[in-house]
Amino acid sequence: MRVLISVDMEGAAGVVDGADVSPGEGAYEHNRGLLTEETNAAVRGVHACEPGAQVLVTEAHGPFRNLVPERLDRRAELLRGKPKPDGMMAGLADGVDAALFIGYHGKAGTARSVMAHTIHGGVVADVRCDGRSLGELGLNATLAAHRGVPAVLVSGDDTVAAEAAGVAPRMHTVVVKRALGAHAAALLHPDEACDRIEQAVPRALADREAIAEAMGALRVDGPVLLEVDVLMPHMTERALLVPGVELADGRTLRYRAPDFPTAYQVTQLITMLGGI
Ligand SMILES: [Zn+2]
Repeated sequence: MRVLISVDMEGAAGVVDGADVSPGEGAYEHNRGLLTEETNAAVRGVHACEPGAQVLVTEAHGPFRNLVPERLDRRAELLRGKPKPDGMMAGLADGVDAALFIGYHGKAGTARSVMAHTIHGGVVADVRCDGRSLGELGLNATLAAHRGVPAVLVSGDDTVAAEAAGVAPRMHTVVVKRALGAHAAALLHPDEACDRIEQAVPRALADREAIAEAMGALRVDGPVLLEVDVLMPHMTERALLVPGVELADGRTLRYRAPDFPTAYQVTQLITMLGGI
């Protein structure tokens, strides 16, 4: 068995504020350690399910260089740095059997949700594929489903767990904090969060056939109408340099993608252009 673990940061136990997850600021250096421990808990969970399993850990927050390599479980291979193919889901193309999401957060616009955003909080107000609003969880789970890979578990605050129910009802969830607002939460102790992740992962992996069946509904075959609502007007000028991207109205960019992976790629590109 080969398992991909996509690791974001805002949904880790112990972090509640932008300064907690931004390189060079506040407790970021310390929190990298917490995030690495949560990832290790997931790796242990994979091996509890299948001792010889191969584990790919793919960085999915900010610069994609957050985990502490020497503290990561040595049985995992680390995909680090950006940009990389498939972004937050790099490694998916290597033929994996299941995907796990650690440290995930609610999508842009979610009320009472710790650091809710979609890809870039300063750029994107919403992403829709064929009219369906998708946050990072939804985009990544849909990309996985497109490749026939079930996304079996997400950890984060209670709002991303609620979002999971709408994205893929059978996905397992580990709530490591209860959101009290955008920058406040009631936290589990980091060790308790790790224990819960470690215990939940084998159960989720054991359930992967049933989840894969349910995830079939997420598969998008054929063309996709991508709409990205942006927050800043200068964003649209840069994004409109991308061939095929058009302005639907002052704040919405539209792109008719031939398939979902292309829509995913163009979403990343639009966001990167706005983040300059
Ligand atoms: Zn994120």
